[in-house]
Amino acid sequence: MSALAAFKRLDLATAPTPLERMANLTRALGGPDLWIKRDDCTGFALGGNKVRKLEFLIADALDKGATAVVTAGGTQSNHVRQTMAAASRFGLRAATVLERVRTDALYEENGNALLDKLFGAETHFVDKDADLAAALADLAAKLSSEGETVYSVPVGGSSPLGALGYAVAGIELAEQCRAMGLRPQTVVHATGSAGTQAGLLTGLALAGFDVPVLGICVSRDGGTQEAKVRGLLKDVLALIERPGLVPETAVRCDGDYVGPGYGVATPEMAEAVKTTARSEGIFLDPVYTGKAMAGLFAHARQGRFTGDGSVVFLHTGGTPALFVYPEVADDA
Ligand SMILES: *Cc1c(COP(=O)(O)O)cnc(C)c1O
Repeated sequence: MSALAAFKRLDLATAPTPLERMANLTRALGGPDLWIKRDDCTGFALGGNKVRKLEFLIADALDKGATAVVTAGGTQSNHVRQTMAAASRFGLRAATVLERVRTDALYEENGNALLDKLFGAETHFVDKDADLAAALADLAAKLSSEGETVYSVPVGGSSPLGALGYAVAGIELAEQCRAMGLRPQTVVHATGSAGTQAGLLTGLALAGFDVPVLGICVSRDGGTQEAKVRGLLKDVLALIERPGLVPETAVRCDGDYVGPGYGVATPEMAEAVKTTARSEGIFLDPVYTGKAMAGLFAHARQGRFTGDGSVVFLHTGGTPALFVYPEVADDA
């Protein structure tokens, strides 16, 4: 833990989040022994994985005397929702760039978009496939010219500092597993902007808990995603002055469950969302955790979990987006 003690951190998440057995889903799949780490229950602003990153990022913003926080994401970004909420909570002006991924009324007015409006976040829309980083820089410049001290949070909160939120989560998970006598053979989770995976690997290694992590991609092929996670991991380890703590080979990503693209529903995702809801009473989301669980189902059915330990699924949140994908509830 001492490697992280040098960094200021707010208390925003309800943690430790529960680590629960999924006995019904285990039975439905015929094994392996499935557990779930409930980071959808981090509490603040409907929870999710970004709350942990924001404990470090908003602490840094306050430390630097920021008066405004800007970020960027898709219209239904969970990251934007949690970041705007955290900025509001600490009295900072909250503004965001939103990429118009879909333009139907439901998508632009319900789910996370509705919540952003409740927080009073200023939203600046750009077209699909626009350069988000450039639009974010423009927004930061605009607010600076209005006299604000601007703190810019990158897409997904995945700066090396933000990723430390998942180093904390990795240590937390290791402590829970030890206390419960659980020896997982793999931790499975959705990987996007890479901070969760890079941080988790760091935290598990800091805790001396040797368990493989498998990232299921939501937007890229496996090789491209692995390169992205490795790049960030290197920066995280440099930040905490522990280069070499995690070998590059520990980064493993599977890009087989993305489907046609980021945020586009797949039948396998819909099946995973419904099966998890009906067997465990747990809601996944259509963009991240539903696809990650589809990957877990496929690995289980193909007999690819060959160790004898449990498999832990890290639920990273995102359920507000369910409300803009009503077709997921249809029975085929
Ligand atoms: C952002 C997000 C992820 C991906 O986490 P990264 O750190 O961006 O890789 C997974 N699940 C949900 C629900 C998210 O909002």
